[in-house]
Amino acid sequence: MDLDRKEVEKLIITEIKKVEDNISELKELTKPISPENAIGRVSRMDAINNKSINEASLRKAEEKLSKLKVARSKIYDNDFGICVRCKNPIPVGRIMLMPQSNKCVNCA
Ligand SMILES: [Zn+2]
Repeated sequence: MDLDRKEVEKLIITEIKKVEDNISELKELTKPISPENAIGRVSRMDAINNKSINEASLRKAEEKLSKLKVARSKIYDNDFGICVRCKNPIPVGRIMLMPQSNKCVNCA
């Protein structure tokens, strides 16, 4: 079962685009909330709660993006698709699902 690197590359590029869109959306949502905003006290509390949730999502998305970019830069390396821990090939299905992962299911 040969790894179709072109296919994986396409997948990673699509995924990068998605995560980038998500990040710009989250950045919009995590802008500082100014106290003079004409929203009520309760909705201001809501806004602050949502903001910290969105900030957590933003950190996760940025982490994912950098992993995807690393994965993309390594697609044509000889050891791409090889588990960094057990050195066994990572099943193609898993690479397609999580291209940013460099470990097999057993080692992850
Ligand atoms: Zn492994």
